[in-house]
Amino acid sequence: MAKPAEAGDGARSSLIGLSREELAAEMEGIGAPPFRARQLWHWIYHRGAKDFAAMTSLAKDFREELGQRFPVERPATSRAQASLDGTRKWLLKFADGNEAKCVHIPEEDRGALCVSSQVGCTLTCKFCHTGTQPLVRNLSAAEIVGQVMLARDELGEWPSPKEGRLLSNIVLMGMGEPLFNYDNVAKAIRIIMDNEGIAISRRRITLSTAGVVPAIRRCGEELGVKLAVSLHAVTDELRDEIVPLNKKYPIAELLAACRDYPGSSQARRITFEYVMLKGVNDTPAEARQLIKLLSGIPAKVNLIPFNPWPGAPYECSTPGAIAKFAEVLTKAGFIAPVRTPRGQDIMAACGQLRTESLKARRSQAKAAAAAV
Ligand code: SAH
Repeated sequence: MAKPAEAGDGARSSLIGLSREELAAEMEGIGAPPFRARQLWHWIYHRGAKDFAAMTSLAKDFREELGQRFPVERPATSRAQASLDGTRKWLLKFADGNEAKCVHIPEEDRGALCVSSQVGCTLTCKFCHTGTQPLVRNLSAAEIVGQVMLARDELGEWPSPKEGRLLSNIVLMGMGEPLFNYDNVAKAIRIIMDNEGIAISRRRITLSTAGVVPAIRRCGEELGVKLAVSLHAVTDELRDEIVPLNKKYPIAELLAACRDYPGSSQARRITFEYVMLKGVNDTPAEARQLIKLLSGIPAKVNLIPFNPWPGAPYECSTPGAIAKFAEVLTKAGFIAPVRTPRGQDIMAACGQLRTESLKARRSQAKAAAAAV
């Protein structure tokens, strides 16, 4: 018997989120020949079919059988918002009622989708709104791929266009720490990269991490996607405070993993994210220290003006302080753009994503399970 799919609804297993091998095993399980799996892959990930009825190259009886056994739906959308700057944010509701967000950020000739990997987060970074929402659970591969499919639906980008895509890049910079959900994230990335489907290449996928050192190596070796590292401080003392994961993997270890990151080169630099916090981490002396730390790493620094959220304990650095910080880096030969906040008016900017999902207490979870 084929391994059950990871659907999240517990009832029928979705075909979305299965690897090619698992999809083939599901087909074998119902007595269909292996080439059916390839046809289905094409329909689901290249054509974006939302139901089996649309898959006209399959026999009608077979489509009906599939329809009875498997769903291919997207996650439901509880809310969709559009920013004045064109950024769009979707609040997704999964089968168990939990919610996560994804954000599309259009640029002139391309666009990135910011994808979530967890509901909530364990990291508790002091400046991050998502960090105030305790981890509820990991997202499954189906739920991660589902975000991309939903965005493609909304942008009208099926079948997968060869060029001129509105959704050309993926950034794993939404809710959660992707490297704490490595297996599901890796599986989702492999599906997204597959050339006969969604076909977004590894060069256009960036995974952002707060620095889960052992998983950084795996990520480079197994997936080869671009890496972004949320650094934000140049001393362990400060980083321990604002990115508590630093207590486990301090700056020197983190940067050693970056130095070794497979595939990084001057053409494929590692991005270091640095949130600009007024009076906390924004002096020219800290910029000079950053230059020292990054020596020997093909690096680019993204300076992110702090995005405020209700009750945040920080303020954004002044434009003057940000410009000065950027100038020190640029003079030392670094590419150091200041990131323009996008989608601030709909709370879609970096660190502003949060949902109302809460982890049910064990007693509540039991009661809910008993009621089913
Ligand atoms: N956990 C991963 C993925 C989240 S990416 C990581 O830490 O990299 C989200 C990015 O936005 C991170 O660089 C994060 O540090 C940054 N960020 C969080 N809160 C922010 C805020 N209020 N203003 C600006 N950037 C913020």
